[in-house]
Amino acid sequence: MAKIIDGKALAKTIRGNLKSEVEDLKKNGIQPKLAVIMVGEDKASKIYVKNKSKACEELGIEYEEYLLKEETTMEELLNLIHKLNNDDKIHGILLQSPLPKHLNIDEAFREISPDKDVDGFNPVNVGKLCLNQDGFVSCTPNGVVKMLEEYNIPTEGANTVIIGRSNIVGKPLVQCLLNKNATVTVCHSKTKDIEKITQKADIVIAALGKPNFVKGDMVKEGSVIIDVGINRLDNGKIVGDIDFENVEKKASYITPVPGGVGPMTVAMLMSNVVKAAKKN
Ligand code: NAP
Repeated sequence: MAKIIDGKALAKTIRGNLKSEVEDLKKNGIQPKLAVIMVGEDKASKIYVKNKSKACEELGIEYEEYLLKEETTMEELLNLIHKLNNDDKIHGILLQSPLPKHLNIDEAFREISPDKDVDGFNPVNVGKLCLNQDGFVSCTPNGVVKMLEEYNIPTEGANTVIIGRSNIVGKPLVQCLLNKNATVTVCHSKTKDIEKITQKADIVIAALGKPNFVKGDMVKEGSVIIDVGINRLDNGKIVGDIDFENVEKKASYITPVPGGVGPMTVAMLMSNVVKAAKKN
C-alpha cells in the first residue's frame, strides 16, 4: 500500500514559514501585495481565487481583486495590467485563467511585468525556467517538485512520465524535472499506447483532466504517482486523473485529490509573492 503524500500538511508548513518571512518584510517597511484579475464568471475560477485570497489573508499579504465583466475588451485588460505593472505597492500580478474567448491570454501574460509575474507564465520566466535560471516558476509544477523533494523521492535518472503538455502544467513540469536530472517522457492526446509508457515509469505525473484515467494496470509496482487532475463528477465529487483506489495498491507514494497538489499550488503562489516582494 502506498504512502500518502500529504500536500495539505506540507502546504501548511510552507505557509507557516512564509508567514514569518512576511512579518520580517513588514518590519523592514515592505508590505507584500498581490493583485488578482478575473474576467467573467467562471465558477471554478471563483473557487480558486477565493482560496488564494484566504491564503493571502492568513499570511498577512495584502490582496486586491479586480473582477472585470465578461465583455471587457483586450484594451481595457491591458490598461489594467499596465497600471498594476506601474504600481510600486503591488509585487505580484495574477491573471486568472480561463479568459473569455474574445481575449488573447498569451498577449495578456506577455504584458505582465516579468518581475511581478508570480504565476510564471510570462515568456521571460518560461525562458528562464528552460535555461535553469532564477525566475518565477509556475506554481503547480513547482508544487509537484517541492512534494518530491520533501518526501525525499529521488528524481535524478528517474524514468518520469508526464501525461499532459499544457502551457501551465505539463510543459513547465518537463523543464522542472529536467532541471532535477530526471529522464522525462511526455504523453498527450496523440500518444499511442500510453499504458506501455507509464508501465515503465518510476514516477507518473497525470495532468490531463480526465477522471480516473490512470488505472492500476498502467503503473509498475513501487512507482511514485502524482495526481495533478481536478475533475468534478456529475455527483459533485472531486476526483483526480488517477484511479486512486487501484493505483494506491501498487504505488510506493501517491498524492490524494483533494489534499495533494492543489494546496501546494496555492502555497507556491504565496512563495512567489514573497519572493517578488523581497526582490523589490
Ligand atoms: P489542459 O490545458 O486541458 O491540457 C490537458 C493536456 O492533457 C493536453 O496536453 C492534452 O493533450 C492532454 N490530454 C487530454 N486527453 C488526453 C488523453 N486521453 N491521453 C493523453 N493526454 C491527454 O489542462 P491543464 O490546464 O493542464 O490541467 C490538467 C488537469 O490539471 C485538469 O484537471 C486541471 O483542473 C488540473 N489542474 C490542477 C491544478 C492544481 O493545482 N492541482 C492546477 C492546474 C490544473 P493535447 O495537448 O494533445 O491536447
